[in-house]
Amino acid sequence: MTKPTRASSPLPSVDSVLRGTEGIRLIARHGRTATLAAVRLVLAELRHAKGSASVDTVAAAAAARLESASLQSLRPVFNLTGTVLHTNLGRAPVAPEAAAAAAGALAAAVNVEYELESGERGERDHHVEADLKDLTGAEAATVVNNNAAAVFLILNTLALRREVPVSRGELIEIGGSFRMPDIMARAGCRLVEIGTTNRTHLRDFAAAVTPRTAMLMKVHPSNYAIQGFTAAVGDAELAKLAHEHGVPYVVDLGSGTLVDLARFGLPHEPTPQAALAAGADLVSFSGDKLLGGPQAGIVVGRAELVRRLNRNPLKRALRLDKARLAALAATLKLYADPDRLAERLPTLRLLCRPVLEIEALGRRLLPRLAKALAGKAEAVLEETRSQIGSGSLPVDRLESRALSIRPIGPRKSAGKSLEALATAFRRLPIPVVGRRQDGALKLDLRCLEDEEGFLSQLDRLAL
Ligand SMILES: *Cc1c(COP(=O)(O)O)cnc(C)c1O
Repeated sequence: MTKPTRASSPLPSVDSVLRGTEGIRLIARHGRTATLAAVRLVLAELRHAKGSASVDTVAAAAAARLESASLQSLRPVFNLTGTVLHTNLGRAPVAPEAAAAAAGALAAAVNVEYELESGERGERDHHVEADLKDLTGAEAATVVNNNAAAVFLILNTLALRREVPVSRGELIEIGGSFRMPDIMARAGCRLVEIGTTNRTHLRDFAAAVTPRTAMLMKVHPSNYAIQGFTAAVGDAELAKLAHEHGVPYVVDLGSGTLVDLARFGLPHEPTPQAALAAGADLVSFSGDKLLGGPQAGIVVGRAELVRRLNRNPLKRALRLDKARLAALAATLKLYADPDRLAERLPTLRLLCRPVLEIEALGRRLLPRLAKALAGKAEAVLEETRSQIGSGSLPVDRLESRALSIRPIGPRKSAGKSLEALATAFRRLPIPVVGRRQDGALKLDLRCLEDEEGFLSQLDRLAL
């Protein structure tokens, strides 16, 4: 055993690390400032720990530090949670055409508010308004940041300091902080609760209308269902009552699909076109739920009311940026060809994916996964049910298949091993996010389309 001599330091100098082969490579990749800082940090830590190290060891530690610092915080993941429109995972994956349109709009000057024919100032919503009108049969349309913003803008524009009766069965909370009563208060209007949780009748609405009533409103109970002894009032009756009193009838649809999902073998979900046809004056819905586009809030309906929304100074604060506008426009174009929509719109494709296809995928993946689990955990392919998510079709589930992975080892530490297993999958270069259930990590394969991408990183699973 050789002891380091007193004269030579156990640590290399900063300079010698920077001049080494790896040091030069790191400077080329990350820049001199970041590399210097990383090398200094590594050396300071070693000095503190009274350690010794070679130039190569210090450079390797600095490289690891620089790599993890340069990782984007926001990055693609495999959503194998079984919730197709997962709000925490960014909801709808948009079509390639929409992603390309957004990237193009970000990277260059675009005519977002410019009329190319006349050379005059234009309206940004015009890029989507014509298609929204065609698709829904509305007189006019406007778009904002998200559906919460759409509801807020409608309430603030049409009902400031006035009353809005809403059924007690519809006072929803949508994950996080969208609570109808709070939105109403912030928008400056007074919520008048009517009916009961399970039953609300037309006469309840009729009795609630006063000279201070600004509008009648229906909120689609998108993330729950009231079942059993229930009653709710239909759009046509509410619209008629509203119009008898000279106030608008507004529907917050939440998800709102532009096509009848039954056509694709999915459960029926109300459409904006049906609400408008039944007499609604304004209908609001999200861009990134069943519509399959970017985050946006869409309002369609009567031209005079849409004009009022656009004149509210808040519209400026809530408007869409050019990237999402471009993505939304490209998504709407896909609806012009409903026959191929289920192939081209990722959300619909994933929701319609045949269970036999998912099963076949699972069978292909299983042996490769078992090998990567290296005796530390075992996997089986099992039946599961996916959900649509984001407050769409809350009750209906879609038959699917999941890889169910269970740690091998003493029962006592099973919880901890499961946690470690889930963490290992989340630490892959493209993090794999599954769902923990019944002591296993379940990877619902419905949303796994990049099979090679998934397989190619399995050998990096650190169990
Ligand atoms: C989802 C939803 C909202 C909120 O929409 P965001 O696009 O998430 O802002 C509002 N109302 C209903 C009924 C919803 O389902």
